[in-house]
Amino acid sequence: TAMLRLEGVQKRYGRDEPALIDIDLALPRGQVMALIGPSGAGKSTLIRCVNRLVEPTQGEIRLEGVALTRLHGAELRRARRSMAMIFQEYALVDRLTVMENVLSGRLGYVGFWRSFLRRYPSADIETALHMLDRVGMPHAMDKRADALSGGQRQRVGIARALLQSPSLLLVDEPTASLDPRTSRQIMRLIRELCVERGLAAIINIHDVALAERFADRIVGLRDGRIVFDGRPDTLTPSV
Ligand code: ADP
Ligand code: ADP
Repeated sequence: TAMLRLEGVQKRYGRDEPALIDIDLALPRGQVMALIGPSGAGKSTLIRCVNRLVEPTQGEIRLEGVALTRLHGAELRRARRSMAMIFQEYALVDRLTVMENVLSGRLGYVGFWRSFLRRYPSADIETALHMLDRVGMPHAMDKRADALSGGQRQRVGIARALLQSPSLLLVDEPTASLDPRTSRQIMRLIRELCVERGLAAIINIHDVALAERFADRIVGLRDGRIVFDGRPDTLTPSV
């Protein structure tokens, strides 16, 4: 059974043309799916419907069999914790340290007090150190986020996402302002972690070459519809 399933999902903002139309998708455990398509195609809307930042107008989304559209309160928060977001690398809090940024993933929000973090359970700090080690940032815990390079910031963002112990990663343009070599390193790291931990991932990415190289599956969106869904080696140039 699929880790994530979208059935007949439609999203319409106000009276505009629908941003998503008839989206049917099933994502198995461990699959890395790249979502490609021109600006305005509906990629961000799709990711936001999954984590319920946006409410679909129609259709159903199930995560591990649980219908997300009907969840509220504590149940919705629990479901959201099993989906971790990785954003563009500047989505760290600059004035906080690397460790503080990583631990903020555990809290699920960024508005917290430093004094609270100082009293954080040591088991979580141990886990955070382990994650930082795994993403290649072993000695960085006390560095301020604004002292890091773009690639290092993205590694910290990935560690933060993993601290949530998610089953699904939602990744929004992870390489948007990184150089090509760093972009490949980051995509390789995300892929390796998905394989190691059996995570499914949806990666919204405009760089088709990166998508082809690091994804198991490519879904092409255009004007809110799926116009391609297949293995990277079957991608045709028109998508
Ligand atoms: P992409 O991520 O592929 O660039 P988006 O999902 O951001 O596409 O946008 C899809 C369509 O929905 C676009 O026409 C965009 O203008 C519209 N849209 C996105 N967000 C909103 C919003 N909050 N309110 C109204 N329209 C929106
Ligand atoms: P992206 O292509 O990454 O989605 P955009 O520049 O299209 O970025 O959107 C940036 C923000 O503006 C998003 O929060 C999106 O939901 C919102 N947005 C996009 N299009 C519209 C729109 N037509 N009306 C209102 N908000 C929009």
